[in-house]
Amino acid sequence: MAWKKILFSRAFGVGILALCTAFTLYCAAGRQTAVPTDARTQSAAQQTQPLPAPDPQPAPPAPAPEPEPEPEPEPAVTLPAERVETGTAGANAPSDGGWQGASDEELLAFLEELAALPHYKRVRAPRYLNYYGSHWTNEQILRIVNTDNDLLPFEQAWNADVGRGSLILANKYHYLDRYEPPELVQLSARYGTWGALQREAYDAFVAMVDAAEAAGYRIQTSSPYRSYAIQRDLYAAYADRNGAARADTYSARAGYSEHQLGLAVDVCQVGGYYGAFGSTPDAGWVNEHAHEYGFILRYGEDMTYITGYIYEPWHFRYVGPDAAAYIRDNGLTYEEYYYYYVAGDETR
Ligand SMILES: [Zn+2]
Repeated sequence: MAWKKILFSRAFGVGILALCTAFTLYCAAGRQTAVPTDARTQSAAQQTQPLPAPDPQPAPPAPAPEPEPEPEPEPAVTLPAERVETGTAGANAPSDGGWQGASDEELLAFLEELAALPHYKRVRAPRYLNYYGSHWTNEQILRIVNTDNDLLPFEQAWNADVGRGSLILANKYHYLDRYEPPELVQLSARYGTWGALQREAYDAFVAMVDAAEAAGYRIQTSSPYRSYAIQRDLYAAYADRNGAARADTYSARAGYSEHQLGLAVDVCQVGGYYGAFGSTPDAGWVNEHAHEYGFILRYGEDMTYITGYIYEPWHFRYVGPDAAAYIRDNGLTYEEYYYYYVAGDETR
């Protein structure tokens, strides 16, 4: 039974070999598949995920709430569609200027130059344009138009606002008609050759004359309040002598004179002629001190194109100390002061 042993042993050996082979194959396969699931996942994650994000920065402070958007400001200067022609007569007529023939760009640039100066009035832009290219300086153009001096004197006058007390404006564009002051106080011979003033102006003038005397100067007035009738006769006499056009340069027509307010004085040396006053030392003192008593030199040198009258170094107007100081400090005419600080938007 030896072959049986051999056969058996061969078969047994083959079986063992087969078993060993199968086990080996199994183990090899098991090494391939026995990778833990976690490890596989980790490996895949390492291949596809970015590096971990760094620690987050501290949160920025909350932005301030958005402010309400400001409404778009209107441009300071625009070229008005409206065009007017004003002032075809008189000293301030824009006879050598005008918007006709100028381009829109030129006119806009002109208005922008004016707007860079104080007191540019947008509403008056159409009237400024009449002075484009004229001989007037930009500052003069503003003064002229802002005080209505581009209009026709007398013909385009308003009724004066007589409710403004010591600040009433009377000139060739502000008509007093038959206005009479509320209270007139008679001047004694020490203070005037004749006539009266409104109470407030009277007190101020008396104080000024007394102060002048204390300082060594002797002044009085040769012409205080003048009624409508007196002014009418006075102007008529001047017009007869010199013609109306010339008389208009130094004398007011009836109803247009601020002497009719009882707030103006023509000053002279005691016993002197008012026309000679400007060159006296007394005038020097008055010029230095009048504002302290509420008076202003009303018709200044080189201001005819605004005031309408020649330089009158003798004519002083009572407006009160505050207004007088402001006018003096700022080199204004009374017209400008009135339009800018008294009447405001009521004026055209
Ligand atoms: Zn006068």
